[in-house]
Amino acid sequence: MGNLTPERLSRYRGLEREFGREGLINLNPIQRGGILTPEARRALLEFGDGYSVCDWCPPRTPRLDRIKRPPLAEFMEDLAEFLHLEVARVVTRCREGKFIAFSSLASPGDCVVVDALAHYSTYLAAELARVKVREVPHSGPPEFRISPEAYGEVMERVRRETGRPPSVVLLTHVDPFYGNLAPAEEVGKLCREQGVPFLLNAAYTAGVMPVDGKKLGADVLVGSGHKSWAASAPTGILALGGGVAERVLRRSEMKGDVSGRSFPEKETALLGCTVMGAPLATLMASFPHVVERVKGWEEEVRKTRYLVKELERIEGTRQLGEKPKRHTLVQVESEGFYRISREHRRRGFFLYEELRERGIVGIQPGLTRHFKLNTYGLKWEEIKLVAESFLEIARRHGLAVT
Ligand SMILES: *Cc1c(COP(=O)(O)O)cnc(C)c1O
Repeated sequence: MGNLTPERLSRYRGLEREFGREGLINLNPIQRGGILTPEARRALLEFGDGYSVCDWCPPRTPRLDRIKRPPLAEFMEDLAEFLHLEVARVVTRCREGKFIAFSSLASPGDCVVVDALAHYSTYLAAELARVKVREVPHSGPPEFRISPEAYGEVMERVRRETGRPPSVVLLTHVDPFYGNLAPAEEVGKLCREQGVPFLLNAAYTAGVMPVDGKKLGADVLVGSGHKSWAASAPTGILALGGGVAERVLRRSEMKGDVSGRSFPEKETALLGCTVMGAPLATLMASFPHVVERVKGWEEEVRKTRYLVKELERIEGTRQLGEKPKRHTLVQVESEGFYRISREHRRRGFFLYEELRERGIVGIQPGLTRHFKLNTYGLKWEEIKLVAESFLEIARRHGLAVT
């Protein structure tokens, strides 16, 4: 402890966050849907202390989803209704939801099928659950589409190789690379026909666009509060259809061999309780806003398409992934900006720096040839400022703008 001097500890004083400042436009793909509502910001302070939501935990059946002050029990029901599924729980992250689903619906050594555009945490969740992953390939550049037929083929191959269907089939509803909207309803139908639990990863969809878990055939739907529900990290959504809810939320059967203690009310995969304080309060406080905001999704996509159209006026620049866009996450390929970067004194950093001078952040510093951005929740005037800024930077460096 001797080295933890006051000088060294002073670095924790007055912590500030540059990208949260008012007036800055942040295009970081993972951050647009997680900006707190004013209600959530107030809840964050109100419930900032440790186990703050546990004041009125029912003593006989202590469990997070049974607390009524604040209304957690009601919130879980409203969440399930919003996603058109039977049961919902709040977990710490989307990835935890995937791990819970894999480990409760598959046994070690089983195969699960995932799309080749799945988030890295999908692979890690599978690894920790000790299941094997079989990937469904995408169509390759420039659109990188995932097809139901490809899902069918991989499911069939698993059946041939192992003598039974995969234990779980996961589909990334909107992928984190290109922002493509996957054919969830078709894959859901395939899973239903074959009796395989369908896990829909809605990290980039639920909370920003309308998602009907029942219509899409999801048995398990996982989401991310800090990515798409205007909530603080860590928060995740785990919503379940009636067919798997009992298996996933199995109650504890453990008994202490000496004490004889047991915990039959606790849901094992949740390790009893999950998010016991401020992040959950933000998720709830933003919920009324989230229920409303998904209705504005089409306008959000219109803004994205406008920005894509403007960016594609720049020499050597195109949007990758499906066209036209159906989501606000965009991957841009720019041979133009890349060419500039190779001659520029600041290399690839020039793009980040020149955007920063114009009040725009969130494009990964150093990237020019391929970079991602997300327009979700930006006002039209902000979208226009972003478009003009890119065009201005392009012209400044001698790229043609048509
Ligand atoms: C961001 C993202 C995740 C991770 O969400 P967490 O809540 O941080 O676990 C998982 N899957 C996809 C598709 C994502 O885009």
